[in-house]
Amino acid sequence: MYTITPMVVAIGPQREKSRFTYMHNFGDKVDIPYVAWLLRGEGRVILVDAGCSAADYRTRIRGEGPLMLAGETFQDVIDVKPLEDCFDEQGLGFDDVDTFVQTHLDWDHCMNTTKFTKSRILIQRAEWQKIPVHPLFKSTYAPKEHYEAIGRLNVEFVEGDHEVANGVRCLFSPGHSPGGQSVAVDTAAGTYVIAGMCTIRDNFYPPEQVLAKGTYTVIPPGMHMDPILCYDSMLRLLDVGKDKVLPFHDDAVLTMGTLG
Ligand SMILES: [Zn+2]
Repeated sequence: MYTITPMVVAIGPQREKSRFTYMHNFGDKVDIPYVAWLLRGEGRVILVDAGCSAADYRTRIRGEGPLMLAGETFQDVIDVKPLEDCFDEQGLGFDDVDTFVQTHLDWDHCMNTTKFTKSRILIQRAEWQKIPVHPLFKSTYAPKEHYEAIGRLNVEFVEGDHEVANGVRCLFSPGHSPGGQSVAVDTAAGTYVIAGMCTIRDNFYPPEQVLAKGTYTVIPPGMHMDPILCYDSMLRLLDVGKDKVLPFHDDAVLTMGTLG
């Protein structure tokens, strides 16, 4: 059995909600957390993604002016708690992480990955093979030097579903990105699934008025490489996680505390 502790390193303020909920919520804004999920149990320390700091965003992602992502002008990322402080609070150092699961390679998930020089880094081969990414997605990915730095870590490329530990398994869940993976975690409170795509709660648990129309059982992310594939991946995650699917960017993560 494992516990799950979401560590919110930063937030992206006032993001366009329809960028998360495909064809829904135009003009609405949401504050989204950037999260590293710490899994502890059975002597193991596992991390799922590691977010992006305000400084990395300013110096390595944004450039001189504000970032334009499609039609949206991004407000700057704001730090909540540096990853170092999150680890201090847990009585851990970065080197204590034996396995780092990279769900996908959007910059908001991987800018801190290079801090984990001693960890085994798990990345889906299908995700890695699409780097450098198509120009259409350039703004959601990091500069190529960053991926070169990740490539020098102790990376293990995986294909499809695989077990990380007894009670922790990766589920291949492409569609948002070419080779996204999610993480199912057995805890004392049941099995949670950390969804490896840029989503909020409404994606997996749409409001009644959306469900009533009968078209969307789930709402794919507004940013996606294949919305139908992503939709099918999301149904699969719900099949495993039921009411315990954890979207990365839901504001509930800010106050969630440790699960399990
Ligand atoms: Zn994201």
